Amino acid sequence: MFKGATILTMDGKSADMPAGDLLVEGDRIAAIAPELAVDDAEVIDSTGMVMCPGFVDTHRHTWQTPLHGVRTDWNLLDYMTYIRGMYCVSYEPEDAELANWVGALEALDSGITTLVDHSHLQLSAAHSDALADGFLRSGIRGIYCYGTYRNLAYQPGQPAQDLPGLLREVNGPLNAWHKRNATRIREKYFPDDSARVRFGIASREFETLPESASMLKELRWARSLQPARISIHVGMSAREPLNVIRELHKVGEMGSDLLFIHGNHLADEELQMTIDAGASISSAIEIEMTYGAFPVVDRFTAMGGQSSLGIDATIDFGGDMFGQMRALLNVWRLERSLKNPRKMTRKVHQKKVLEIATVRGAEAIGLGGITGSLAVGKKADLLLLRTDALGLAPMWDPYAAIVSYGQSSLVDTVMVDGRVVKRHGRLLGIDWPTVRASLGRSKDNIRRRFSLIPEQPIRARWAQGFRIDITD
Ligand SMILES: [Zn+2]
Repeated sequence: MFKGATILTMDGKSADMPAGDLLVEGDRIAAIAPELAVDDAEVIDSTGMVMCPGFVDTHRHTWQTPLHGVRTDWNLLDYMTYIRGMYCVSYEPEDAELANWVGALEALDSGITTLVDHSHLQLSAAHSDALADGFLRSGIRGIYCYGTYRNLAYQPGQPAQDLPGLLREVNGPLNAWHKRNATRIREKYFPDDSARVRFGIASREFETLPESASMLKELRWARSLQPARISIHVGMSAREPLNVIRELHKVGEMGSDLLFIHGNHLADEELQMTIDAGASISSAIEIEMTYGAFPVVDRFTAMGGQSSLGIDATIDFGGDMFGQMRALLNVWRLERSLKNPRKMTRKVHQKKVLEIATVRGAEAIGLGGITGSLAVGKKADLLLLRTDALGLAPMWDPYAAIVSYGQSSLVDTVMVDGRVVKRHGRLLGIDWPTVRASLGRSKDNIRRRFSLIPEQPIRARWAQGFRIDITD
């Protein structure tokens, strides 16, 4: 039982408690009240801390965890060339396992208890096993989305003349191997649709296709596996060859199982199609600002849409939710001010941002019934934030404490599924020096393989996909 925390339930019904108790029985919340009298429960003294639901990250490429700060000045074409074309094929299965495990730990450490992994590193059956194993053993809740993207079938060190033929395959139609492999992963690791980690699909880059037939074919196949969500990158550029949402709408294939990622360049009409279908959008604020577009959150939520927050690629910033929440708060306020230059617009409150990072996120991925808010009967997924630290104390507003002053080092306790995974500021059962040494070895191996890959043909292929002129 947690005793004495400032409790932010985020369930939209019960009032916040300046000091309250929360009882966990098994994996669920059994009671929440200003004061609970329970004799036989283990007590976690939460005095002076803020409790809120665990954060929900609806979009992350967890396999990119070992690439922290690999380069920090890239544009989208650089990202596609280096990460999706080159670093991707520099991973061996052991790198993939370590990356997914540590990436999920990084999330847990910052209070993210639910994570949607858009996992497009499915290079071989061994890689797929490793990715699923790493994700599952972290203990996090989430949806593991198998990526059907056809990675470049190039081995570092292979002759460069093999590349042009292989590049023609990239983003080619869904192949038989992916179909077999995805089905195998679904059955072997994620057979239970009510398990802590559920199965999902991460689609190919539909927006770069010349026409919709192969997208529709893939989507129908994906739905035959009954995924919890189908994660689709969309609307990242104003010049995408295929208008994914309009095409899906036209043929009646929009649905509440679709989780659109980014969508910065979607027109209001497409946002309305998304809302009408019960689909949702994940905004990864920091990376979207890097690539030069306002997040869709202000427009989409004003229309009644289901917005959520994702972290996306952790190659350029940390994998915690605090950075994303702060970025959203600031860009949202800026956007509001720019839209009303002659008015003194009241600023967006931190509570709206925390809602999107918790309860709205859970609803966006179909898990609103079990997580995302603190309510009796829901799974016990929560965090405690210390408020006694220099830089935060003295606390006035608990929402501001989390969104504007929070950081992973202030997260004292994290619970997922009724199990404490972080306590007194440390992840339990993790020997960090040993894990860090493994990451270092993995980094060296990835870097060595990367150096053996020719860059130019790969860059040209993606420039063509995005219709970008790369002559500068
Ligand atoms: Zn992404």
